[in-house]
Amino acid sequence: MAGDHNEEFDLRQSIVDACREMTALGINQGTSGNISVRFGEGMLVTPSGVPYDRMTPEDIVFMDWTGAWKAVGDNVPSSEWRFHLDILKAKPEVGAVVHAHPIYCTIIAIMNMKIPAIHYMIAAAGGNDIPCAPYAQYGTAALSEAAVAALQDRRACLLAHHGLIATGPHLAKALWLAVEVEVLAKQYHGCLQLGTPPLLSDEEIDSLLKRWGQYGLRDKKNVAAA
Ligand SMILES: [Zn+2]
Repeated sequence: MAGDHNEEFDLRQSIVDACREMTALGINQGTSGNISVRFGEGMLVTPSGVPYDRMTPEDIVFMDWTGAWKAVGDNVPSSEWRFHLDILKAKPEVGAVVHAHPIYCTIIAIMNMKIPAIHYMIAAAGGNDIPCAPYAQYGTAALSEAAVAALQDRRACLLAHHGLIATGPHLAKALWLAVEVEVLAKQYHGCLQLGTPPLLSDEEIDSLLKRWGQYGLRDKKNVAAA
């Protein structure tokens, strides 16, 4: 498919570019980060163990909704493919999933803590906190279930003793959110050095969500109850 500049090639190239950007942005440790983008009847997902500086669009693996996959050469999908697939299946509004082990997100996740409403940008993830999914071993269905549950009303979550998942309607927005959540984690970590940070009220987060054209916290509860 080299030189075939169709939609699929462009998406594959955008995943390679985003992997390298994760490293440049400082949110990635080695090749622990992985990315998926909704495509056709499934997703394009990063391969396991291919260094980002050597990764090409052809290395990206296509996996269908059943988990069957096609790859070039010896490539296999990321060991974290399961939660990528399950999140994309569970949340039709999500077009891309970014996963990494950024230092500050991981510090908060090791402590099994969520990031509370310390800053108004918390609302970018869709609510008044960034939840932390309980620990389950990487690559397992249990981890995937925990991640999907944590993301029920959110676009990002922490994974206990592991790292971060950020989603978006497209890859650029998911990557943007991953960076924003790492900044929030760093801010929260800094605040905790000084004491217990005061938090923004649910009413303020609600107001922000409505200003940004999203459901407010109460509306969401009402929608869930309806
Ligand atoms: Zn991971």
